[in-house]
Amino acid sequence: GQGLMAGKRGLILGVANNRSIAFGIAKACVDNGAEIALTYQGEAFKKRVEPLAAELGAHIVGHCDVTDPASLDEVFENVAAHFGKIDFVVHAIAFSDKEELDGRYVETTRANFNRTMEISVFSFTDIARRAEVIMNDGGSLLTLTYYGAEKVMPHYNVMGIAKAALEASVRYLAVDLGGRGIRVNAISAGPIKTLAASGIGDFRYILKWNEYNSPLKRTVTPEEVGDSGLYLLSDLSRSVTGEIHHVDSGYHVVGMKAVDAPDI
Ligand code: NAD
Repeated sequence: GQGLMAGKRGLILGVANNRSIAFGIAKACVDNGAEIALTYQGEAFKKRVEPLAAELGAHIVGHCDVTDPASLDEVFENVAAHFGKIDFVVHAIAFSDKEELDGRYVETTRANFNRTMEISVFSFTDIARRAEVIMNDGGSLLTLTYYGAEKVMPHYNVMGIAKAALEASVRYLAVDLGGRGIRVNAISAGPIKTLAASGIGDFRYILKWNEYNSPLKRTVTPEEVGDSGLYLLSDLSRSVTGEIHHVDSGYHVVGMKAVDAPDI
């Protein structure tokens, strides 16, 4: 095929439906010539991912629950069997108990803290270690983070702590994998109404707030995150690693509510 991603093969984890950020990235990759493999989390998502894979011409490499190492073993065996070597991996996975994305962070439980960290942080390192084995030199790993890692955002709670650790993981992994030219980066996406975001309280308000107060005066879409992801997954960014790249209409540079923002 032709395009920026021609000849490149990659694994994309985290497509739940056609609003998933992972789907936006997958579409951008395929539209630019990549061959991709997708996973699904359990039978419930299988039915939703199958038609999306067909639409993208993607290969499904099976069920993936990052808390179950056997499922990851199987996914990576299937990827190696189908593609041999790969050039990129996208990790678009996070989870926290909805109950704890409400109220005070200080009340977070040990069980949910550990679970949130395992699914949203450790999984990226676990996947990077497996990916390294079957990745071509010069490959690219990408994860998704949020501004709640840097500043306190309403309702983000334990997920903010997890994203801070995920961003630190990006830097440590960039050093570990840099010797082979493998790059590790994150996109810090502005708020988008996805399934995962439905667990966050006052989400409509958060979207409006970003719309009124970001330099570009609008929110972002999975397609736009996909296009920025394309840069980080392609050779255009071959000298970029350990980076947290904001795709948020510039919201992260603003220090104060816009004077002309309406009350919302
Ligand atoms: P989404 O619900 O479409 O995707 C989340 C994915 O995580 C799903 O595919 C789900 O199956 C997967 N997942 C959860 N637990 C898992 C587990 N145990 N094993 C395997 N997979 C598991 O929502 P999204 O918003 O596209 O989320 C993708 C990533 O983007 C997440 O890391 C999220 O934190 C991040 N992000 C989202 C926003 C936003 O506003 N939507 C903003 C910044 C960053």
